[in-house]
Amino acid sequence: MDTYHLQMTFHAWTNAAPEVLVWSPGRVNLIGDHTDYNDGWALPMTLEMGTLIAARARADDVLHTWALRMNEQDNVPLTALQPTAAPMWVRYVRGVAALLQAEGYRIPGANLLIDSTLPLRSGLSSSASLEMGVSLALLTLARQTMDRRTMARLCQRVEHEIIGVRSGLLDQLAVGFGEAGHALLLDCRTLEIQIAPLPENARIVVIDSAVPRTLASSGYNQRRSECAAALQKLQQVDPTLQALRDVSPELLATEQGRLSAVEQRRVRHVVSENARTFASYAALQTGDSKHFGALMNESHASLRDDYESSAVMVDVLVDIAQRTTGVLGARITGGGFGGCVVVLVEAAAAASAQTHIVEQYATSTGYRATAYQGTAGAGLGTLS
Ligand code: ADP
Ligand code: MG
Repeated sequence: MDTYHLQMTFHAWTNAAPEVLVWSPGRVNLIGDHTDYNDGWALPMTLEMGTLIAARARADDVLHTWALRMNEQDNVPLTALQPTAAPMWVRYVRGVAALLQAEGYRIPGANLLIDSTLPLRSGLSSSASLEMGVSLALLTLARQTMDRRTMARLCQRVEHEIIGVRSGLLDQLAVGFGEAGHALLLDCRTLEIQIAPLPENARIVVIDSAVPRTLASSGYNQRRSECAAALQKLQQVDPTLQALRDVSPELLATEQGRLSAVEQRRVRHVVSENARTFASYAALQTGDSKHFGALMNESHASLRDDYESSAVMVDVLVDIAQRTTGVLGARITGGGFGGCVVVLVEAAAAASAQTHIVEQYATSTGYRATAYQGTAGAGLGTLS
Protein backbone atom coordinates (compact mmCIF):
# COMPACT_ATOMS: atom_id res chain seq x y z
CA MET A 1 0.00 0.00 0.00
CA ASP A 2 1.35 3.50 -0.77
CA THR A 3 1.46 6.24 1.86
CA TYR A 4 -1.74 7.83 0.58
CA HIS A 5 -3.77 4.64 0.95
CA LEU A 6 -2.14 3.82 4.25
CA GLN A 7 -3.26 7.21 5.59
CA MET A 8 -6.76 6.64 4.24
CA THR A 9 -6.93 3.22 5.87
CA PHE A 10 -5.64 4.66 9.13
CA HIS A 11 -8.32 7.33 9.04
CA ALA A 12 -11.06 4.79 8.36
CA TRP A 13 -9.77 2.68 11.25
CA THR A 14 -9.33 5.35 13.94
CA ASN A 15 -11.40 8.30 12.70
CA ALA A 16 -8.27 10.45 12.81
CA ALA A 17 -5.27 11.17 10.64
CA PRO A 18 -1.92 9.62 11.60
CA GLU A 19 0.49 11.90 13.46
CA VAL A 20 3.54 10.11 12.14
CA LEU A 21 4.47 8.11 9.06
CA VAL A 22 7.60 6.02 9.31
CA TRP A 23 9.56 4.40 6.49
CA SER A 24 11.82 1.53 7.52
CA PRO A 25 13.57 -0.32 4.68
CA GLY A 26 14.63 -3.92 4.35
CA ARG A 27 18.23 -4.63 3.51
CA VAL A 28 20.23 -6.96 1.36
CA ASN A 29 23.72 -7.90 2.40
CA LEU A 30 26.04 -7.76 -0.61
CA ILE A 31 28.89 -9.53 1.16
CA GLY A 32 30.06 -10.28 4.70
CA ASP A 33 27.66 -12.82 6.17
CA HIS A 34 27.98 -14.46 9.59
CA THR A 35 30.71 -11.95 10.39
CA ASP A 36 28.64 -9.48 12.42
CA TYR A 37 28.31 -11.60 15.57
CA ASN A 38 32.05 -12.28 15.33
CA ASP A 39 32.71 -8.51 15.63
CA GLY A 40 33.61 -8.36 11.92
CA TRP A 41 32.55 -6.38 8.87
CA ALA A 42 29.55 -6.50 6.55
CA LEU A 43 28.58 -4.65 3.38
CA PRO A 44 24.80 -4.25 3.10
CA MET A 45 22.54 -1.75 1.35
CA THR A 46 18.97 -0.73 2.13
CA LEU A 47 16.26 -1.67 -0.36
CA GLU A 48 13.37 0.29 -1.82
CA MET A 49 11.15 -2.39 -0.27
CA GLY A 50 10.36 -2.04 3.41
CA THR A 51 7.92 -1.41 6.23
CA LEU A 52 5.56 1.55 6.34
CA ILE A 53 3.93 2.55 9.63
CA ALA A 54 1.19 5.08 10.31
CA ALA A 55 0.87 5.99 13.99
CA ARG A 56 -1.05 8.21 16.36
CA ALA A 57 -1.00 8.54 20.14
CA ARG A 58 -4.14 7.61 22.07
CA ALA A 59 -5.67 9.14 25.18
CA ASP A 60 -5.55 5.80 27.03
CA ASP A 61 -2.58 3.48 27.60
CA VAL A 62 -3.52 0.87 25.00
CA LEU A 63 -1.19 -0.22 22.21
CA HIS A 64 -3.44 -1.19 19.32
CA THR A 65 -1.63 -2.59 16.28
CA TRP A 66 -2.99 -3.74 12.95
CA ALA A 67 -0.60 -5.67 10.71
CA LEU A 68 -1.99 -5.53 7.19
CA ARG A 69 0.23 -8.30 5.86
CA MET A 70 -1.37 -10.77 8.28
CA ASN A 71 -4.58 -8.81 8.61
CA GLU A 72 -4.33 -9.38 12.35
CA GLN A 73 -4.66 -6.98 15.24
CA ASP A 74 -3.21 -6.80 18.72
CA ASN A 75 -4.82 -4.76 21.43
CA VAL A 76 -2.95 -4.63 24.73
CA PRO A 77 -2.48 -2.24 27.68
CA LEU A 78 1.07 -0.87 27.96
CA THR A 79 1.07 -2.10 31.55
CA ALA A 80 0.69 -5.74 30.45
CA LEU A 81 2.78 -6.15 27.30
CA GLN A 82 4.14 -9.65 28.02
CA PRO A 83 5.73 -9.97 24.58
CA THR A 84 6.85 -13.60 24.83
CA ALA A 85 3.27 -14.78 25.39
CA ALA A 86 1.98 -13.29 22.13
CA PRO A 87 1.78 -14.61 18.52
CA MET A 88 5.03 -14.31 16.56
CA TRP A 89 4.55 -11.02 14.72
CA VAL A 90 3.10 -9.40 17.85
CA ARG A 91 6.24 -10.27 19.82
CA TYR A 92 8.32 -7.91 17.69
CA VAL A 93 5.95 -4.98 18.24
CA ARG A 94 5.32 -5.56 21.94
CA GLY A 95 9.00 -6.42 22.38
CA VAL A 96 10.13 -3.03 21.13
CA ALA A 97 7.54 -1.24 23.29
CA ALA A 98 8.49 -3.28 26.37
CA LEU A 99 12.23 -2.64 25.98
CA LEU A 100 11.68 1.08 25.40
CA GLN A 101 9.69 1.18 28.64
CA ALA A 102 12.34 -0.82 30.47
CA GLU A 103 14.94 1.72 29.32
CA GLY A 104 12.88 4.50 30.88
CA TYR A 105 11.19 5.90 27.78
CA ARG A 106 7.62 6.96 28.55
CA ILE A 107 5.76 5.90 25.44
CA PRO A 108 2.10 6.77 24.98
CA GLY A 109 -0.76 4.45 24.12
CA ALA A 110 -0.93 4.36 20.33
CA ASN A 111 -2.57 3.05 17.19
CA LEU A 112 -0.05 1.55 14.79
CA LEU A 113 -0.99 0.55 11.26
CA ILE A 114 1.78 -1.54 9.73
CA ASP A 115 2.24 -2.53 6.11
CA SER A 116 5.22 -3.91 4.25
CA THR A 117 6.41 -4.43 0.68
CA LEU A 118 9.12 -6.88 1.73
CA PRO A 119 9.05 -10.63 1.40
CA LEU A 120 8.89 -11.86 5.00
CA ARG A 121 11.22 -14.57 6.32
CA SER A 122 13.38 -14.49 3.21
CA GLY A 123 16.59 -12.98 4.54
CA LEU A 124 15.83 -9.35 3.59
CA SER A 125 15.40 -8.51 7.24
CA SER A 126 11.74 -7.73 7.51
CA SER A 127 12.14 -8.33 11.25
CA ALA A 128 14.76 -5.60 11.80
CA SER A 129 12.80 -3.34 9.47
CA LEU A 130 9.71 -3.87 11.64
CA GLU A 131 11.58 -3.39 14.93
CA MET A 132 13.38 -0.23 13.87
CA GLY A 133 10.20 1.19 12.33
CA VAL A 134 8.14 0.55 15.47
CA SER A 135 10.92 2.10 17.63
CA LEU A 136 11.02 5.26 15.56
CA ALA A 137 7.21 5.51 15.44
CA LEU A 138 6.79 5.12 19.22
CA LEU A 139 9.69 7.45 20.05
CA THR A 140 8.38 10.10 17.66
CA LEU A 141 4.92 9.91 19.28
CA ALA A 142 6.65 10.23 22.67
CA ARG A 143 8.59 13.28 21.32
CA GLN A 144 11.84 11.60 22.25
CA THR A 145 14.95 10.87 20.25
CA MET A 146 17.43 8.04 20.39
CA ASP A 147 20.64 7.74 18.43
CA ARG A 148 20.52 5.10 15.75
CA ARG A 149 23.24 2.89 17.23
CA THR A 150 21.41 2.70 20.55
CA MET A 151 18.18 1.98 18.68
CA ALA A 152 19.90 -0.80 16.70
CA ARG A 153 21.14 -2.40 19.93
CA LEU A 154 17.71 -2.19 21.54
CA CYS A 155 16.11 -3.85 18.51
CA GLN A 156 18.79 -6.53 18.50
CA ARG A 157 17.77 -7.29 22.09
CA VAL A 158 14.24 -7.97 20.82
CA GLU A 159 15.70 -10.71 18.59
CA HIS A 160 17.83 -12.10 21.43
CA GLU A 161 15.54 -11.83 24.42
CA ILE A 162 12.07 -12.11 22.90
CA ILE A 163 12.38 -13.96 19.59
CA GLY A 164 15.28 -16.24 20.56
CA VAL A 165 17.52 -15.57 17.54
CA ARG A 166 21.01 -14.55 18.64
CA SER A 167 21.56 -12.32 15.61
CA GLY A 168 24.33 -9.76 15.17
CA LEU A 169 23.83 -6.04 14.56
CA LEU A 170 24.10 -6.05 10.78
CA ASP A 171 20.38 -5.85 10.05
CA GLN A 172 19.46 -3.07 12.44
CA LEU A 173 22.52 -0.96 11.59
CA ALA A 174 21.82 -1.31 7.87
CA VAL A 175 18.17 -0.29 8.33
CA GLY A 176 19.18 2.67 10.50
CA PHE A 177 22.00 4.03 8.35
CA GLY A 178 21.15 3.06 4.75
CA GLU A 179 21.55 5.67 2.00
CA ALA A 180 20.05 5.67 -1.47
CA GLY A 181 22.53 4.63 -4.14
CA HIS A 182 25.11 3.46 -1.62
CA ALA A 183 26.39 0.39 0.16
CA LEU A 184 27.54 0.58 3.79
CA LEU A 185 30.70 -0.89 5.22
CA LEU A 186 29.76 -1.74 8.82
CA ASP A 187 32.33 -2.38 11.48
CA CYS A 188 30.29 -4.48 13.87
CA ARG A 189 32.74 -3.95 16.76
CA THR A 190 33.17 -0.18 16.74
CA LEU A 191 29.84 0.41 14.93
CA GLU A 192 31.69 2.74 12.56
CA ILE A 193 30.05 3.07 9.18
CA GLN A 194 31.53 4.09 5.83
CA ILE A 195 29.59 4.46 2.63
CA ALA A 196 30.53 3.73 -0.95
CA PRO A 197 28.54 4.38 -4.13
CA LEU A 198 27.20 1.36 -6.00
CA PRO A 199 28.65 0.83 -9.49
CA GLU A 200 26.81 2.65 -12.27
CA ASN A 201 27.51 -0.04 -14.87
CA ALA A 202 25.99 -2.86 -12.82
CA ARG A 203 22.69 -3.70 -11.15
CA ILE A 204 21.80 -5.67 -8.04
CA VAL A 205 19.06 -8.27 -8.41
CA VAL A 206 17.62 -10.05 -5.37
CA ILE A 207 16.07 -13.45 -6.00
CA ASP A 208 13.93 -15.19 -3.42
CA SER A 209 14.63 -18.91 -3.85
CA ALA A 210 11.25 -19.88 -2.33
CA VAL A 211 13.17 -22.36 -0.16
CA PRO A 212 11.70 -21.98 3.33
CA ARG A 213 14.26 -21.07 5.98
CA THR A 214 13.13 -23.93 8.19
CA LEU A 215 16.45 -24.48 9.93
CA ALA A 216 17.16 -20.79 10.09
CA SER A 217 16.98 -20.00 13.79
CA SER A 218 18.32 -23.33 15.08
CA GLY A 219 21.14 -23.52 12.51
CA TYR A 220 21.98 -19.89 13.12
CA ASN A 221 22.26 -20.28 16.88
CA GLN A 222 24.31 -23.46 16.38
CA ARG A 223 26.80 -21.57 14.19
CA ARG A 224 27.13 -18.94 16.89
CA SER A 225 27.93 -21.61 19.47
CA GLU A 226 30.49 -23.21 17.15
CA CYS A 227 32.21 -19.84 16.71
CA ALA A 228 32.21 -19.26 20.47
CA ALA A 229 33.71 -22.70 21.12
CA ALA A 230 36.43 -22.15 18.51
CA LEU A 231 37.23 -18.73 19.97
CA GLN A 232 37.67 -20.22 23.45
CA LYS A 233 40.20 -22.74 22.17
CA LEU A 234 42.15 -20.06 20.30
CA GLN A 235 42.13 -17.83 23.38
CA GLN A 236 44.25 -20.47 25.11
CA VAL A 237 47.06 -19.51 22.70
CA ASP A 238 46.29 -15.81 22.63
CA PRO A 239 44.18 -14.53 25.54
CA THR A 240 43.91 -11.09 23.92
CA LEU A 241 41.55 -12.41 21.24
CA GLN A 242 38.11 -10.92 21.87
CA ALA A 243 36.26 -12.34 18.90
CA LEU A 244 36.96 -14.29 15.72
CA ARG A 245 37.55 -10.91 14.09
CA ASP A 246 40.91 -10.82 15.85
CA VAL A 247 42.06 -14.14 14.37
CA SER A 248 44.61 -13.59 11.59
CA PRO A 249 45.03 -16.05 8.72
CA GLU A 250 48.52 -16.79 10.12
CA LEU A 251 47.20 -17.63 13.60
CA LEU A 252 44.56 -19.87 12.11
CA ALA A 253 47.17 -21.67 9.98
CA THR A 254 49.50 -22.38 12.89
CA GLU A 255 46.89 -23.18 15.55
CA GLN A 256 44.13 -24.92 13.64
CA GLY A 257 45.19 -28.26 15.12
CA ARG A 258 43.52 -27.13 18.35
CA LEU A 259 40.16 -26.96 16.60
CA SER A 260 37.84 -29.71 15.44
CA ALA A 261 37.50 -30.12 11.67
CA VAL A 262 34.11 -28.37 11.79
CA GLU A 263 35.46 -25.48 13.86
CA GLN A 264 38.37 -25.06 11.44
CA ARG A 265 35.95 -24.59 8.58
CA ARG A 266 33.75 -22.14 10.51
CA VAL A 267 36.72 -19.98 11.49
CA ARG A 268 38.15 -20.15 7.97
CA HIS A 269 34.88 -18.73 6.68
CA VAL A 270 34.83 -15.85 9.15
CA VAL A 271 38.50 -14.93 8.60
CA SER A 272 38.27 -15.12 4.80
CA GLU A 273 34.87 -13.40 4.65
CA ASN A 274 36.19 -10.39 6.57
CA ALA A 275 39.04 -10.10 4.05
CA ARG A 276 36.62 -10.41 1.13
CA THR A 277 34.36 -7.73 2.62
CA PHE A 278 37.25 -5.23 2.78
CA ALA A 279 38.32 -6.14 -0.72
CA SER A 280 34.75 -5.62 -1.94
CA TYR A 281 34.58 -2.19 -0.36
CA ALA A 282 37.85 -1.29 -2.10
CA ALA A 283 36.44 -2.63 -5.38
CA LEU A 284 33.40 -0.34 -4.99
CA GLN A 285 35.64 2.64 -4.45
CA THR A 286 37.52 1.95 -7.69
CA GLY A 287 34.34 0.96 -9.54
CA ASP A 288 35.68 -2.55 -10.22
CA SER A 289 32.42 -4.48 -10.41
CA LYS A 290 34.10 -7.52 -12.01
CA HIS A 291 36.30 -8.01 -8.97
CA PHE A 292 33.35 -7.36 -6.68
CA GLY A 293 31.43 -10.12 -8.47
CA ALA A 294 34.32 -12.57 -8.18
CA LEU A 295 34.44 -11.93 -4.43
CA MET A 296 30.70 -12.61 -4.19
CA ASN A 297 31.22 -15.99 -5.88
CA GLU A 298 34.04 -16.84 -3.46
CA SER A 299 31.84 -15.81 -0.56
CA HIS A 300 29.11 -18.20 -1.67
CA ALA A 301 31.56 -21.09 -1.92
CA SER A 302 32.76 -20.31 1.59
CA LEU A 303 29.23 -20.16 3.02
CA ARG A 304 28.32 -23.40 1.24
CA ASP A 305 31.43 -25.45 2.00
CA ASP A 306 32.99 -23.98 5.15
CA TYR A 307 30.07 -22.42 6.98
CA GLU A 308 27.48 -24.89 5.69
CA SER A 309 24.75 -22.28 5.96
CA SER A 310 23.39 -22.55 2.43
CA ALA A 311 20.73 -25.00 1.19
CA VAL A 312 20.74 -27.44 -1.72
CA MET A 313 18.19 -25.57 -3.84
CA VAL A 314 19.83 -22.24 -3.11
CA ASP A 315 23.12 -23.68 -4.36
CA VAL A 316 21.36 -24.65 -7.59
CA LEU A 317 19.97 -21.13 -7.94
CA VAL A 318 23.39 -19.55 -7.33
CA ASP A 319 25.01 -21.92 -9.81
CA ILE A 320 22.44 -21.01 -12.50
CA ALA A 321 22.94 -17.31 -11.80
CA GLN A 322 26.73 -17.55 -11.95
CA ARG A 323 26.53 -19.21 -15.39
CA THR A 324 24.13 -16.62 -16.81
CA THR A 325 25.41 -14.14 -19.40
CA GLY A 326 26.16 -10.74 -17.93
CA VAL A 327 26.25 -11.96 -14.33
CA LEU A 328 29.34 -10.77 -12.46
CA GLY A 329 28.69 -12.61 -9.21
CA ALA A 330 26.02 -14.35 -7.12
CA ARG A 331 25.72 -15.57 -3.54
CA ILE A 332 23.29 -16.51 -0.82
CA THR A 333 22.55 -13.55 1.44
CA GLY A 334 21.41 -13.09 5.03
CA GLY A 335 21.20 -15.63 7.79
CA GLY A 336 21.09 -18.51 5.32
CA PHE A 337 19.59 -22.02 5.33
CA GLY A 338 17.27 -20.93 2.49
CA GLY A 339 15.94 -17.52 1.53
CA CYS A 340 17.37 -15.02 -0.92
CA VAL A 341 20.27 -14.84 -3.35
CA VAL A 342 21.92 -11.56 -4.37
CA VAL A 343 23.21 -11.18 -7.91
CA LEU A 344 25.47 -8.52 -9.43
CA VAL A 345 24.84 -8.19 -13.14
CA GLU A 346 25.98 -5.87 -15.94
CA ALA A 347 23.37 -3.12 -16.32
CA ALA A 348 22.63 -3.89 -19.97
CA ALA A 349 22.01 -7.59 -19.23
CA ALA A 350 20.04 -7.18 -16.00
CA ALA A 351 16.50 -7.71 -17.33
CA SER A 352 17.30 -10.70 -19.56
CA ALA A 353 19.51 -12.32 -16.91
CA GLN A 354 16.79 -12.01 -14.29
CA THR A 355 14.22 -13.71 -16.53
CA HIS A 356 16.63 -16.43 -17.57
CA ILE A 357 17.65 -17.29 -13.99
CA VAL A 358 14.06 -17.57 -12.76
CA GLU A 359 13.03 -19.75 -15.73
CA GLN A 360 16.07 -22.01 -15.56
CA TYR A 361 15.60 -22.48 -11.82
CA ALA A 362 11.95 -23.47 -12.33
CA THR A 363 12.97 -25.99 -14.99
CA SER A 364 15.73 -27.48 -12.85
CA THR A 365 13.99 -27.59 -9.48
CA GLY A 366 10.27 -26.91 -9.88
CA TYR A 367 10.62 -23.97 -7.47
CA ARG A 368 9.15 -20.60 -8.41
CA ALA A 369 11.64 -17.90 -7.54
CA THR A 370 10.73 -14.23 -7.37
CA ALA A 371 13.19 -11.61 -8.57
CA TYR A 372 13.37 -8.04 -7.27
CA GLN A 373 15.30 -5.04 -8.58
CA GLY A 374 17.85 -4.29 -5.89
CA THR A 375 17.90 -0.51 -5.95
CA ALA A 376 19.56 1.01 -2.90
CA GLY A 377 16.84 3.05 -1.17
CA ALA A 378 16.71 5.48 1.74
CA GLY A 379 17.27 4.42 5.34
CA LEU A 380 14.92 4.68 8.31
CA GLY A 381 13.08 7.97 8.69
CA THR A 382 9.81 9.80 9.20
CA LEU A 383 7.87 11.01 6.16
CA SER A 384 6.02 14.30 6.03
P1 ADP B 1 13.47 -11.86 7.89
O1 ADP B 1 13.92 -10.87 8.91
O2 ADP B 1 14.59 -12.42 7.08
O3 ADP B 1 12.39 -11.34 7.00
P2 ADP B 1 12.60 -13.26 10.25
O4 ADP B 1 12.13 -14.65 10.48
O5 ADP B 1 13.77 -12.76 11.04
O6 ADP B 1 12.86 -13.10 8.67
O7 ADP B 1 11.41 -12.24 10.52
C1 ADP B 1 10.17 -12.38 9.87
C2 ADP B 1 9.04 -12.18 10.86
O8 ADP B 1 8.95 -10.79 11.24
C3 ADP B 1 7.69 -12.49 10.27
O9 ADP B 1 7.41 -13.88 10.33
C4 ADP B 1 6.77 -11.67 11.18
O10 ADP B 1 6.53 -12.31 12.40
C5 ADP B 1 7.60 -10.43 11.44
N1 ADP B 1 7.25 -9.34 10.48
C6 ADP B 1 8.06 -8.76 9.60
N2 ADP B 1 7.42 -7.80 8.90
C7 ADP B 1 6.16 -7.78 9.35
C8 ADP B 1 4.98 -7.01 9.03
N3 ADP B 1 4.98 -6.08 8.08
N4 ADP B 1 3.85 -7.26 9.72
C9 ADP B 1 3.85 -8.20 10.69
N5 ADP B 1 4.90 -8.95 11.03
C10 ADP B 1 6.05 -8.76 10.38
MG1 MG C 1 15.14 -11.23 10.59
